[in-house]
Amino acid sequence: MDFLESEENQMIREMVRDFAESVLAPTAEARDHDQRPPAEEWQAFLELGLQGVTIPDEYGGAKLNDIAEAIIVEELARVDPSFAVMFCVHVGLCAMTINLHGTEEQKQAYLPRLAAGEVGAYSLSEAGAGTDAAAMGCRAKLSDDGTHYLLNGEKMWVTNGVQAGIYVLFAKDVDHPDFGVKKHGGTTAFIVEQAFEGLTVGKKRTNLASVLRTRAPWCWKTARCPWPTSSRRRQRISHRHERAGQQPYRHRRSGARYRSGRLRSGLEVRPRT
Ligand SMILES: Cc1cc2nc3c(=O)[nH]c(=O)nc-3n(C[C@H](O)[C@H](O)[C@H](O)COP(=O)(O)OP(=O)(O)OC[C@H]3O[C@@H](n4cnc5c(N)ncnc54)[C@H](O)[C@@H]3O)c2cc1C
Repeated sequence: MDFLESEENQMIREMVRDFAESVLAPTAEARDHDQRPPAEEWQAFLELGLQGVTIPDEYGGAKLNDIAEAIIVEELARVDPSFAVMFCVHVGLCAMTINLHGTEEQKQAYLPRLAAGEVGAYSLSEAGAGTDAAAMGCRAKLSDDGTHYLLNGEKMWVTNGVQAGIYVLFAKDVDHPDFGVKKHGGTTAFIVEQAFEGLTVGKKRTNLASVLRTRAPWCWKTARCPWPTSSRRRQRISHRHERAGQQPYRHRRSGARYRSGRLRSGLEVRPRT
């Protein structure tokens, strides 16, 4: 197997390294200290055009191969682990999940927005449902007039939770035949927008030694997840959590590069301001 990086990948590495050292490094420590999301840095990152690396061209993205994506994660994590996680969740857990499992209508509605830089998030974990995701308490119920779902529950540890506009969020559909029969029965991915009625973003939590400043728990009583068009599946991605569960493979790969980026950081003397 050839492990040499292509010329294009080397150029991407240099470009991201330059961005990380010149834009992220000067503010990373202060942002960690203040628990501030990297809003201005994200805007600067958009100028590189890398926010759509998992989104096909026809939806406004600029799809790159997996090696290039891993290199980007590594270079970001080398300087600013928090920004690297933000990127991983945006391009991987959110955009890639919609691209892999969304309907054509969902892809057309959401992928161009994510490709344009609107931040994406992924919300599976809850206070009582971490590793044991099937224990989740969030419930989804179709409204009586069939126009929307009502989502009830509270999520936690949502990377990008504060600044995201689009969330891939998991809840159990109480009308699913397996609900209450199997432990994971009814688990369904929904696409939720921060603007949806009833959604409340809670307080940010400090964790991981103040590194992940962009994570927030959120909660809602009854967020209305609409089906404004003829398609009832507009907001619902899939009943099968396992399908979205194909994602962790990609996430593990990003995770490995994340860790190697941190390792590089420890081995190298990187610029400090
Ligand atoms: C950097 C970061 C970003 C995150 N971002 C998101 C996000 O964007 N969206 C989201 O939904 N969640 C997110 N999370 C939450 C994450 O998915 C959960 O933290 C994770 O699922 C583990 O849950 P927990 O922390 O409750 O640990 P627990 O489930 O309590 O597990 C604690 C430990 O016990 C072990 N363990 C658990 N069950 C068993 C068992 N049956 N047998 C043996 N060992 C077991 C686990 O391996 C682990 O080591 C994030 C977490 C981190 C660290």
